[in-house]
Amino acid sequence: MKKIAVLTSGGDAPGMNAALRAVVRSAIYRGLQVLGVKKGYNGLIEGNMVEMDVSSVADIIHRGGTILGTARSDEFKTEEGIEKALDKLRVLEIDGLVVLGGDGTMRGALELSKRGIPVACIPCTIDNDLGYTDYAVGFMTATETVADAISRLRDTSSSHGRANVVEVMGRRCGDIALYSGLAGGAETIVVPEVAFDLDALLRKVLRGKNRGKRHHIIVLAEGAGNPYEISEAIQKTAEMETRVTILGHVQRGGTPTVFDRIMASQMGSMAVDLLYNGEKDRAIAINCNKIVSVPIEDALKTQKLFQHELLETAGMLAI
Ligand code: ATP
Repeated sequence: MKKIAVLTSGGDAPGMNAALRAVVRSAIYRGLQVLGVKKGYNGLIEGNMVEMDVSSVADIIHRGGTILGTARSDEFKTEEGIEKALDKLRVLEIDGLVVLGGDGTMRGALELSKRGIPVACIPCTIDNDLGYTDYAVGFMTATETVADAISRLRDTSSSHGRANVVEVMGRRCGDIALYSGLAGGAETIVVPEVAFDLDALLRKVLRGKNRGKRHHIIVLAEGAGNPYEISEAIQKTAEMETRVTILGHVQRGGTPTVFDRIMASQMGSMAVDLLYNGEKDRAIAINCNKIVSVPIEDALKTQKLFQHELLETAGMLAI
């Protein structure tokens, strides 16, 4: 192993830069040459890469986003696209690849590993929808951002006696809503993993209003319900003025939390060690506070389990 490449792909996640820094510096420490691939798998197909040195990752550990850029590459999902990428890897004599991203990125990595390229994957996605790892890099930062937004909305909602429906990201995974809702003391958390009961929500809003509560915060995972319909129902049935806040892409940016930076640094370093030690097909995880690795296919097959007991705790504390 003499030369490796690293890329960031899919949605950006805070902490990707910290992981990238760890990959580049660990590789250099091991005496390896490192290429940074621009804009995900598109850069691999086009051979859009730059040599990385110690200073090319200076001053980025605390920055959100990814200095390499990221993309969703449809071409890489085709056999021709994969062949083009393989060609570039061969021509540039790249012996191994580290990829940072979510489940789609790992599926792409699996295709390369099946064709003989040693690959190590670092889970980076704010959605936390990967079942094989307790946490993905970026999730805790996004959750912190949402919890902060909830606190701000709570201030203004209480002042006016309003309800607020806060829509958060997560695709099909309710973890951002669950964790930020619990941390933010939301009255109701709506996630795709649990059937939504509008009548129960309306009863709860009314109960709260009748005992003098000044606000009602509903954290709604995207796709788990229509925020405007919920808002209308509350205004009509509970006669409580209601606002809708769609947090959107602010959840993706910002300086990564200490937790994400440390996890990203450990994972980046492990990714290089795995390749350096001849491993060919690894997905890195944090499980029970330990950084471990599993075959990529096993990682992708592991079902994501929703923490129902955490939702119950949140519900119990928001009576
Ligand atoms: P996030 O969870 O933040 O959305 P992600 O990595 O899951 O991140 P995707 O857009 O699903 O984001 O995947 C990123 C890229 O990985 C895709 O644009 C595509 O280039 C590649 N990819 C996804 N699935 C496959 C596949 N089955 N085969 C080859 N490449 C794939």
